[in-house]
Amino acid sequence: MTADPVALARDLLRCPSVTPAEGGALAYIERVLQGAGFEVHRVTFEEAGTDPVENLYARIGTAAPHLMFAGHTDVVPPGDESRWSHPPFASEIDKGVLYGRGAVDMKGSIACKIAATLDHLAANDGRPNGSISFLITGDEEGIAVNGTVKLLQWAAARGEKFDHAILGEPTNPEKLGDMIKIGRRGSQNGVLIVTGTQGHVAYPELADNPVRGLVTLIGAINAEPLDNGTAHFGPSNLEFTSIDIGNKTVNLIPAEARARFNIRFNETRTREELRAEVERRTAKAAGNAVRWNIEWEPSNADVFITMPGPFVEMMSRAVTEVTGIVPKLSTTGGTSDARFIKDYCPVIEFGLLSQQMHKVDEHVATADLVALTAIYRHILERYFSSPA
Ligand SMILES: [Zn+2]
Repeated sequence: MTADPVALARDLLRCPSVTPAEGGALAYIERVLQGAGFEVHRVTFEEAGTDPVENLYARIGTAAPHLMFAGHTDVVPPGDESRWSHPPFASEIDKGVLYGRGAVDMKGSIACKIAATLDHLAANDGRPNGSISFLITGDEEGIAVNGTVKLLQWAAARGEKFDHAILGEPTNPEKLGDMIKIGRRGSQNGVLIVTGTQGHVAYPELADNPVRGLVTLIGAINAEPLDNGTAHFGPSNLEFTSIDIGNKTVNLIPAEARARFNIRFNETRTREELRAEVERRTAKAAGNAVRWNIEWEPSNADVFITMPGPFVEMMSRAVTEVTGIVPKLSTTGGTSDARFIKDYCPVIEFGLLSQQMHKVDEHVATADLVALTAIYRHILERYFSSPA
């Protein structure tokens, strides 16, 4: 008998695991994996000023190679439940479509990984020819400080070594098979602050309006592209997201003007180098006329790429065999927990369809759950017969 990913997904979707609540989701996974012979650990992390969050680490096998399935069971809130055609935690199926918060992001793909693993074990006398682990956090959709980062540190302290990881975020824009993510851009936030001298708007000669300086500096910073991109990444990009002066008084020249921005950068750049370049452009445009400084926010979102090679090809072939589609290898989109996993082993991301994530009526075709399980199953078969 083969494992049923739809039944597993339905059980998981019934768990109201809105970050930071566990909602029964990890307890459910613990039961299923323990039943399959995994050694399961439930670990709670907390730190000052944050909610404690539960996480799970489970492993079967002791030998190499060691393949990690990574993911998160927490979900974003459903919002106004009356706008859902099927209640967000009722896990209803309607015309071959399963509805529920987390259907694609990402309880659905966790269910597929579990089903594929159960099938793989059943076909191989209950043991992998190596090791399989599940690294599942309850803190991905929130501030992500008590989740994957700490769980990886915890695992490393126990002596766990990983060879490859597959993260099940929803990666496909249109159809299952469209896209494998092999990297993500880095991210850096900053605030540009221009200081002037406050005064009456009718007497500008007695004031120094920081708005003029801010506009000049924004123009200069954005005047040239940061770079041209690479084979696997688009150009690095700096985008201003907000201009904040907060002045409600019509006859007042403000004393200060701020602009927030975000940089998404590719693998040719480092955070330090980009900061220096933005400061150089700013200084050149400001000369002695504009008083400015930039506050750089701390960030843990570094760029990474898992270069195409045997592991990526194995994933790619599995996708094609099941779906008939040759997936695009992409580095687009926001950050994910892959940015933490990459410090421990090569990581790629492949899951369900991305269109539905975080939406009202989030849903997944049950056929996609079956197909994704088949893809993961192919990977397991290949990986443990000829490791990447
Ligand atoms: Zn997600």
